[in-house]
Amino acid sequence: MSYMADFSGKESHIKHIHPVLRWIMFEADYYCYQMNKPYVVTSIIRGVKDGISKSKTHQTGRAFDVSVKGWSETFIEMFINYLNAMFSSYAATSASGEKRLAVRHNSGHGDHIHIQINSKYSLDLSGVNL
Ligand SMILES: [Zn+2]
Repeated sequence: MSYMADFSGKESHIKHIHPVLRWIMFEADYYCYQMNKPYVVTSIIRGVKDGISKSKTHQTGRAFDVSVKGWSETFIEMFINYLNAMFSSYAATSASGEKRLAVRHNSGHGDHIHIQINSKYSLDLSGVNL
């Protein structure tokens, strides 16, 4: 069986993110491996000047994006439900009190799943060279 995770050339980002996020990133990798689906991480750390996100989750090492290219709607739902169930205690809480770790986004830079952990895990990455 051939399976290879794809980090879109952003491997150097991985050591800088919060260990909880790294754990989720690799859990998601193993889940895709088991389900025989491609695993493509499209974005990890983004600087302020990249200006894509309105939130600071990618700037502070507590978010990454996964492409849903080649995934069925069923698998997208399974993947989101799996991560939300397993890592709910690490999720951010919305204003309405809802805990959401993995959220599907289809705006700007393509159809993807945005995965973010609670703001208490924010890191100062301003001095980091990627
Ligand atoms: Zn994102």
